[in-house]
Amino acid sequence: MSLYDKNISEEKKASLEFAEASREEKWTYPSFALQIFHGRVDWPLIHPFPVQSPADKEKGDAFLRKLETFLRQNLDPNEVDRTGEIPEGVMKGLADLGAFAIKIPEEYGGLGLSQVNYNRAIHLVASYCGSTAVLLSAHQSIGVPQPLKLFGTQEQKRKYLPQFAQGTVSAFALTEPEAGSDPRNMSTTATPIEDGRFYLLNGEKLWCTNGLIAGVIIVMAVTPPKIVDGKERKQITAFIVETHQPGFEIAHQCRFMGLHGIKIGVIRFHNLKVPKENIILSEGEGLKLALTTLNTGRLTLPAASAGVAKWCLNVARQWSVKRRQWGAPIGEHESIALKLGYIASHTFAMDAMTWLTSAMADDKRRDIRLEAAIAKDFCTYHTWRIADETLQIRGGQGYEQAESLAKRGMDSWAVERVLRDIRVNLIIEGTTEIMHLFVAREALDPHLNRLKPLLNAKTSLTEKGKTFLELSQHYLVWYPGLWLPARKRGNALDPRLQPQADYIQNASCRLARETFHQILRHQKKLEARQAVLNRIVDIGTELFAMAAACAYADHLLKKQEKEANALDLADLFCRTASGRVDGLFRERRANCDAQGMSVARKLLDRQYEWLENDIIK
Ligand SMILES: Cc1cc2nc3c(=O)[nH]c(=O)nc-3n(C[C@H](O)[C@H](O)[C@H](O)COP(=O)(O)OP(=O)(O)OC[C@H]3O[C@@H](n4cnc5c(N)ncnc54)[C@H](O)[C@@H]3O)c2cc1C
Repeated sequence: MSLYDKNISEEKKASLEFAEASREEKWTYPSFALQIFHGRVDWPLIHPFPVQSPADKEKGDAFLRKLETFLRQNLDPNEVDRTGEIPEGVMKGLADLGAFAIKIPEEYGGLGLSQVNYNRAIHLVASYCGSTAVLLSAHQSIGVPQPLKLFGTQEQKRKYLPQFAQGTVSAFALTEPEAGSDPRNMSTTATPIEDGRFYLLNGEKLWCTNGLIAGVIIVMAVTPPKIVDGKERKQITAFIVETHQPGFEIAHQCRFMGLHGIKIGVIRFHNLKVPKENIILSEGEGLKLALTTLNTGRLTLPAASAGVAKWCLNVARQWSVKRRQWGAPIGEHESIALKLGYIASHTFAMDAMTWLTSAMADDKRRDIRLEAAIAKDFCTYHTWRIADETLQIRGGQGYEQAESLAKRGMDSWAVERVLRDIRVNLIIEGTTEIMHLFVAREALDPHLNRLKPLLNAKTSLTEKGKTFLELSQHYLVWYPGLWLPARKRGNALDPRLQPQADYIQNASCRLARETFHQILRHQKKLEARQAVLNRIVDIGTELFAMAAACAYADHLLKKQEKEANALDLADLFCRTASGRVDGLFRERRANCDAQGMSVARKLLDRQYEWLENDIIK
């Protein structure tokens, strides 16, 4: 079957329409990242860099101190990796500390900490034990507490939130064997019975993190379809499911490359009876709930990534000084020194993005959907590269397991475990590829909204004419403005950061022009041109990261403490990132997309099967 089979196109269209129907449409609050794609760098949205209030910081510091002491004294991450268990005593100790109720308001028995403090906790734990970080984060970034906080009724909050303070663990069940990135394929059903007062849940969920130990799970299931605009539309609804109910089955425990301590697997529902009161939001709003939960939920991934990157930085620094080869510490050989520069500068940028986006989430006067997706994408990718470079810097010892190293009296940094534990971050909570599509869709939204009537075949000619006039008025002002020399610098950054700020402004205008040209060129077909969209997204991502790094460096410079040399890190990061941006702009004309697609088509058609020779299949 060809890649471009008509049925596949129809199916693809249906999946896109389905996802579209569940996306958050409104932009109630401003988004710094959105504007970057439209030629505007609105510095006041991120500068001065947001800092924690002393009271909030003090609350967070007190919890972090207790958490760190507890982990150091009670948890051996290498043992978790080897045995596949987070010990009972650790689970109990974490519960006693309130680690399963970090963001839950105090009135429900939780710690009532802010998003910044919650992310600080995950950042700390991730730098020590990946499995424990994922246990805590799957439970409260996407598990029951988060959607309940966002959308739960008073009754639901009163019933469930206090349980988490006692140590009940929760989970989030969206994925199914046939529904990974594409939720339209979901087949778990919730059938209304007894006049709609209850639902019978049937089906199977895959890779539900914590699913094997959870007391309650938020489950997305298909409820009866509705007719929308004359067409039948699939409905997905979110239910709070108590796992002690008859009909809940743990079918399989999955084993992975890393994160050996997490309890994750296949769970099944057989006529499990759920009361109507356990629906969160309302019937048919389940996918919207899942997507909205993930907007803030995925902010823990940048936080965890930054924690891991700092751990790598620490290991790489120590080893590069200690290990001597060819008459010098390895850190003095240029190849290793440049790796160290990459690790330090990108860790700095990740730190900036993490605390900027976390503060935006607490502020609630910023739209963070683009920022969170960009930060997740950028930080998970670079942390993976950083861990890989750290392993390379450690040489053979990087590949050796920590316990084996310890037995031979060597430095026992578990770089190989860390590498195994973090790889999945490019897949969970939105794969890198899906994050690109998501960012592209949101970034193009203002244009698509304006152009929609023109692209719609059903719009009357009069209506099209009216829209065309309105569009002309807008674009005749906006577009020429993108060609003007750098506008007035609307920022109060340190003068040493101005060249970077100017670059961001100019590149943002160029990006906006480029995006507009691509819309005019490809029109409706642009949504299928992933290579074009990916370049647009990657440029916007780099510019957002550069802006965050500049705002953060400015803040540290003004503190005039030891971090004053943050300028070096921001400068190196911005130079590296702008090099990538320039390359991406060049690639829009000089690329091998057509050849790559052609080879892929032939490959799928088995035309290169001969290349798979002389191997054991
Ligand atoms: C350790 C672990 C923990 C997890 N925890 C949870 C959890 O707690 N709850 C939960 O519900 N799920 C969980 N998941 C599932 C996870 O969210 C999915 O793996 C993820 O959504 C991707 O789905 P998939 O693996 O089926 O990949 P697929 O959707 O099959 O994708 C395969 C590849 O194709 C790419 N791709 C797919 N569609 C497109 C497209 N349109 N354009 C371009 N590329 C595309 C993807 O990016 C990916 O590279 C977990 C998974 C793992 C491995």
